[in-house]
Amino acid sequence: MAEDSKRRVFVSRRIPENGLERLRTLCDVDIWEGDLPPDRETLCTRAAGCHGVLSMLSDAIDPDFMDRVGPQLQVVSNYAVGFNNIDVEEATRRGIRVGNTPGVLTDATADIAFALLINCARRISESERSVHDGKWKTWEPLGFIGLDLVGKTIGIVGLGRIGQAMARRCHGGWGMDVLYTSRSSKPEAEGEFDADYVSMDELLTRSDFISVHCDLNNSTSGLFDASAFQKMKSTAVFINTARGSIHNQNDLAAALTNGEIAAAGLDVTDPEPIPADDPLLDLQNCVVIPHIGSATVDTRAAMADIAAENVLRALADEPMPHCVNPPS
Ligand code: NAP
Repeated sequence: MAEDSKRRVFVSRRIPENGLERLRTLCDVDIWEGDLPPDRETLCTRAAGCHGVLSMLSDAIDPDFMDRVGPQLQVVSNYAVGFNNIDVEEATRRGIRVGNTPGVLTDATADIAFALLINCARRISESERSVHDGKWKTWEPLGFIGLDLVGKTIGIVGLGRIGQAMARRCHGGWGMDVLYTSRSSKPEAEGEFDADYVSMDELLTRSDFISVHCDLNNSTSGLFDASAFQKMKSTAVFINTARGSIHNQNDLAAALTNGEIAAAGLDVTDPEPIPADDPLLDLQNCVVIPHIGSATVDTRAAMADIAAENVLRALADEPMPHCVNPPS
């Protein structure tokens, strides 16, 4: 491609260099270098006139954004597997391809879900805080008593790629019984984990640990509200590494405060970042980490490769490695 015919691509945050290098070979690349995401105005202005946008999950890719970027926009490649920040229907209507990065972040995210599960069950963050606060005076026969994991029941909400990786850890490593809900049953996974496909109510009442791995959509927004937490065991642990809007944060804080559930571990909150005065941050039985599910060297590099390749293929009018709205 001649220099003056290079397609313009806007990248809304700095991503690993391997992805940027790949893009630069064929495109004129503009990168937002800020430590924080560009504000709305800057996002729209910098992306205006571009043929491709490599976006983050914090960017709202809506009709107004598409209008302001212009009709030459061919592809929005999200640096994430989730794409709830993008109006895919509208993009499809305009012939804009939407890409994501599934698969390569499955194990890293399941590892974080399992780390949160052990952390909550064994009160690791809470006990570590007490050490830092100078409160460790002696070995305590009744101090920081937690929950066992072996042989317990894990309830997986959304037995997709990450849900299955979590089930594999829980069943294979800790011999847990696996219950799951999904929009459809997964007979192959049932064989691998000896998993039972159950109703949401059954999963809520029978599980010792519940881990959320569904995507955010109309059927999962607000799925974990006061009534869901009330149905759970008072000893249950709630883990969410999917999207913050799947739980109602006020209802979760109330459930943790009132002892309706034992603990919660969150990699995702609503909103993100969680406000410093959110009641969850005052609770000893709630662990909150800043959306680091995919944050490993290899995973982020693999995501950068796919996100760049999605852009290049779409601009060349070739099939993308991962397109959520392929042309019919
Ligand atoms: P996936 O393979 O598409 O799995 C999503 C699963 O959710 C599917 O199995 C789907 O069921 C299920 N689901 C959808 N609606 C449901 C409902 N109402 N009730 C129960 N299950 C429902 O996606 P994935 O790669 O595992 O990723 C899952 C999500 O994790 C992403 O969408 C993203 O939001 C989140 N994520 C977070 C991080 C992080 O950094 N914390 C990293 C990666 C991903 P069916 O198969 O039956 O349709």
